[in-house]
Amino acid sequence: MNVRTRFAPSPSGHVHIGNIRAAIFNWLFSRHHGGAFLLRIEDTDRDRSTPTAIQTLLDALAWLNLDPDEEPLYQSSRMEAHLAAADRLLAGGHAYRDDKGATGQGEAIVFRMPDHDMVFVDEIKGELRKPAESAKDFVIVRSNGTPVFHLANVLDDIEMSVTHVIRGDDHIENTYRHVALYQALGADVPRFAHLPMIVNDRGRPYSKRDGDAFVGEFKANGCLPEALFNYLALLGWSPGDDREIMRRDEMVAAFSLDRVQSSPAQMDLKKLEWMNAEYIRRLPIDDLFAACRTTLADHGMWSEDLDRAYVLAVVETMRERIKRFDDFPGAAGFFFSEDFPYDEKAVRKRLKKEGALEGLATLRDRFAGLPDFDAGSLETTLRALAEERGVGAGDLVHPARVAVSGQAGGPGLFEMLALLGRARVLGRIDRALARFA
Ligand code: GLU
Repeated sequence: MNVRTRFAPSPSGHVHIGNIRAAIFNWLFSRHHGGAFLLRIEDTDRDRSTPTAIQTLLDALAWLNLDPDEEPLYQSSRMEAHLAAADRLLAGGHAYRDDKGATGQGEAIVFRMPDHDMVFVDEIKGELRKPAESAKDFVIVRSNGTPVFHLANVLDDIEMSVTHVIRGDDHIENTYRHVALYQALGADVPRFAHLPMIVNDRGRPYSKRDGDAFVGEFKANGCLPEALFNYLALLGWSPGDDREIMRRDEMVAAFSLDRVQSSPAQMDLKKLEWMNAEYIRRLPIDDLFAACRTTLADHGMWSEDLDRAYVLAVVETMRERIKRFDDFPGAAGFFFSEDFPYDEKAVRKRLKKEGALEGLATLRDRFAGLPDFDAGSLETTLRALAEERGVGAGDLVHPARVAVSGQAGGPGLFEMLALLGRARVLGRIDRALARFA
C-alpha cells in the first residue's frame, strides 16, 4: 500500500504540542513506510484562521522540519466540492433536508446514520464500537449553506487519497460518523489511529495553565527543535527498548503504531529540559555558537567586537551547564560584561565570612605575580596558599568565584579565571575587596 498520511490542523494562532505531536506521528509513520506526509489547512473558520494564524502554523512546521511532501490543501477552497457531495448524499437517500423549527433561515442538510452499530478497528485502541441507538443523525450543511467539519474533513481525506488518519483520541466520536460518511459516499474507509491525550500531572488535558504548551513558546525559551521533536515522539510512543535520545532516522526506522500507548501521556517539562540539555551537549560548536550569539543579542549583550575565539571558548565551557539557550545570558553574562549582578546570598556566605577577604587579597597578589595565567598555574598557586594559611582550598575557591562572577556556582574556577584573563580577574577582585570590605 502506498501510505499517505496528513496533518489537518485548524489554525488558531497557536500550535499546541498535542497537535504538533500528531503531525510528528503522521510524519514518522509515513517516512517509515516510504509514503507521503501531507498538510491540509482546515481554515473554514475565517475568524480564527487569519493569515497570521496560518503563518504561525507553517512556521512551527518549518521550525520542526516537518515539511509536507505536496502543496498544502486549503479546506476553504473546497466548499463547492463539499456541497456537491451533500447533494449526492441527498439524492442517494443518505441525507435529508431539515428546517429546524421552521425559523425561515433555510434548511440544514442532515446525514442519516445507519441503523446498525458502527464499528472500526483502531490501529492503537483495537476494535471500537458505537451502538446503533446512540448514533444520532447529524448536520452536514448548516442552514446558512456552509458545510460542517465532518463533511469537509472526510471529503478532503478522500480527495487527498489519505490511507491513514492519525489524530487525537478526542476525535473518536467523530470517527463513527466519518466511517458512515465514507461508506455512504462509496469511498474506501482509511485506517484510523487515535493518539492518547497529553495530560498534566493531575491527568487533565495539558494546557497553557500547566506551563509552556505552544510550539512558539518552546522556541522562544531556547529549546532545540530536534529535542522537542524527540521528546514529543516519545510522548505516547516507545521504540520498544530503553533508548531515549534518538536521531530522526532512528525514530523513523523504529516507528510503528502498535507501540503507541492507548492511555494518556503525561507531559513532563523537566524531562524535556533534560533532553534539551543532552542535545545542547551534542550540538556542533558552530551551531552552539550561533544559538548563544542570538540569545546574547536578544539580551543586549552581543557586540561585533567580541573576539570569536573567546566567545567560542566560553560557549564550550558553558555547554554542560545550560539546559536551554535562554539560560545562557544569565549563567554566562559575567564573561561579557563588568556590570554583572552579585548573588547576595553567595556574597554573605562566601565573602562576608571571617578571613575571606584577607585570603582573597593575598590570592590576588599571588595571581598578579604569576608568569603564566593558565588554569594549571592558578590551581597550584591557590592550593599552595590554602596550605600556607591552614585552610581548605574551598575557603579560597568560593570567595574567588563570587568575586569574579557574582555567582555561587558555575564552570570550573581555574578554567574560568584563565578564560577571563589576568586583567579582568585582578580588576574584579579589587572591586570586590573594596565593595564588600
Ligand atoms: N482540524 C481538525 C483538528 O485540528 C482535524 C483533525 C483531523 O482530522 O486530523 O482537530
